[in-house]
Amino acid sequence: MKCYCLNNFSSPLQEKDIDLPVPHTNQVLLKVKASGICHSDIHLCNGYYDIGMGKKFELKDRGIELPLVLGHEIVGNVVAKGEDVKDIEIGGNYIVYPWIGCGICENCKESCENYCLSPQYLGINKPGGFAEYILVPHYKYLVNIKNMDPAMIAQYACAGLTTYSAINKIEKNIYKKKPVVIFGAGGLGLMAVSILKALGGYGSIVITNDLNKKQAALEAGALAVFDYNDEHLVKKLLDHNSNHKYHAVIDLVGNSNTTKASFDILEKSGALIIVGMFGGLSNWPLAFIPMKALKIIGSYVGNLSEFNELMKLVIDQKLEPVQIKKYDFDKLNEALSDLRSGKVVGRAVIINNI
Ligand SMILES: [Zn+2]
Ligand SMILES: [Zn+2]
Repeated sequence: MKCYCLNNFSSPLQEKDIDLPVPHTNQVLLKVKASGICHSDIHLCNGYYDIGMGKKFELKDRGIELPLVLGHEIVGNVVAKGEDVKDIEIGGNYIVYPWIGCGICENCKESCENYCLSPQYLGINKPGGFAEYILVPHYKYLVNIKNMDPAMIAQYACAGLTTYSAINKIEKNIYKKKPVVIFGAGGLGLMAVSILKALGGYGSIVITNDLNKKQAALEAGALAVFDYNDEHLVKKLLDHNSNHKYHAVIDLVGNSNTTKASFDILEKSGALIIVGMFGGLSNWPLAFIPMKALKIIGSYVGNLSEFNELMKLVIDQKLEPVQIKKYDFDKLNEALSDLRSGKVVGRAVIINNI
């Protein structure tokens, strides 16, 4: 089968032919139909995260081994299954939960495989969806998407799940009664707006540095959109809320400026949920954290229960799709480069027509 491999950090993915895996026991083999491209794929290609003060956190120190087939937002068509697999239809289209753990560490035993101490995440630690086929180690990681469009659905495995889990970290009675401020209007930002709406949220106020994305955020259901580069951003946000501070901010960017602005607009006992890993350092007046009883919470993807809840919401409510930009499988490097330069509105998705 054909796959695209990251052989060296900071270099394009390379096409490679490898043996088609054969599923045994609980494993399932799927022909990849759609594979979303995530900002973390860019970090993986770069080989590091910026952790501020000119320092880098190298991915090889995080246990990432090359060569690697990236791609963790995968929808595929089941072509073969192991002898112990139950309730999976050959020929059915399934979305894959990629945040698979070791199954034996404390976090895995608490059903938080996404916080596994020895992760086996598909597309990060194990071969992912930038390939013709993918082997999933257990059928419990699959959800049947019925007749929904694989290209639209793939993004729920990361962008959808990540934003769903971030929203879950805000108390329900808060997000139902008060606006949530969202930094970022990329794939995750639009997804957060759409999921918050589907959950019956009061609504979202989006901040973006790209006014081309403003319209997309409004179409996804944002109450208002503000310009990240506006020097009076904090004042304008407070004015918009009748001069009140906000109770919840989801920061999908995660840089010095967004975390600083988030801090300035949060009211007492408010929560800042940081999802984005743009990087850098933050300069918070520390005394205000206890004084205002602020909660600063990091959120990384989501667990399997959250994935199943989210997919039920998506399928039952036929969630309004977030804008996507499709690329053919062999245009993967072009798609990565477009995403890197901020040219993609919504989610970039690779379509496999092979
Ligand atoms: Zn991702
Ligand atoms: Zn584990």
